[in-house]
Amino acid sequence: MAFPLDLISVLRHVERVTVLTGAGVSQESGLRTFRDSQTGLWAQYRPTDLATPQAFARDPKLVWDWYAMRRDKVRTVEPNPAHLALARMARLVSDFCLVTQNVDGLHQKAEAIVAGSSLLQRAYPIIELHGNLARVRCASCGQPAETWDESDQDVPCCAFCGGLLRPDVVWFGEALPRQALEQAVEAARTCQVFFSVGTSGVVQPAASLAYAARNRGAVVVEVNAEPTPLSEKADFALQGKAGEVLPALVEAAWPTPPSR
Ligand code: NAD
Repeated sequence: MAFPLDLISVLRHVERVTVLTGAGVSQESGLRTFRDSQTGLWAQYRPTDLATPQAFARDPKLVWDWYAMRRDKVRTVEPNPAHLALARMARLVSDFCLVTQNVDGLHQKAEAIVAGSSLLQRAYPIIELHGNLARVRCASCGQPAETWDESDQDVPCCAFCGGLLRPDVVWFGEALPRQALEQAVEAARTCQVFFSVGTSGVVQPAASLAYAARNRGAVVVEVNAEPTPLSEKADFALQGKAGEVLPALVEAAWPTPPSR
């Protein structure tokens, strides 16, 4: 895979990188993006009609079951070469920040895999803008729940206040966790290179991060299977699957030294 030489040159010298990922980065792990249609029982519902506080108020069981299905699915999948390439890039850049809209925890899984096989340990932030499917909290008092009965026919209740439990994710119409958003904005404003990977760039405020980076002079690189509203504004728009483009790009910019 050939990349523009000026992009490779920028990456070889870069010290501060921020990456924003979206559902597309997990597509090659077998997780559907929101733009893909749903299947089976769920085909009659749009995700945007299930991932809202109004949907939960109307039919908590329907929303709980949809998330339980997604949680089960996530447990069966593994990070793909895109997640692994980003975890590798994190070790090659001195100041690296990963911001994700995904709720699947696959970046953390990839980090654990790469950390286990790498001599170079480097801590870097993984900022979850939209929460994590694996966590559950009370819809009334906000208390996180450590355990709950998956086989329960009804939506499980909070051990503290008896309120209904809900997934600890950000629904459409809800505010993002303040600290996570502030950290993400700061990382976008201070990086030298900003990657936007596998995101359609239509869900705010995540979509504005690339522009915040660009306005502060960062080089913006998009990796996406299709053109998006950002493509024309990005310095480099690399069209293709993240699981193919990212490993090749990391290898082109930071070639693995030949083993003796
Ligand atoms: P999106 O569904 O709006 O867009 C996905 C983007 O990824 C599209 O632009 C598509 O062209 C691109 N894409 C698809 N496959 C790709 C691949 N293999 N390589 C590169 N690009 C690929 O997703 P979004 O922008 O993340 O925003 C929608 C919301 O969906 C977010 O809030 C997110 O929390 C949620 N979501 C998360 C997951 C997950 O955690 N895995 C899955 C579905 C939806």
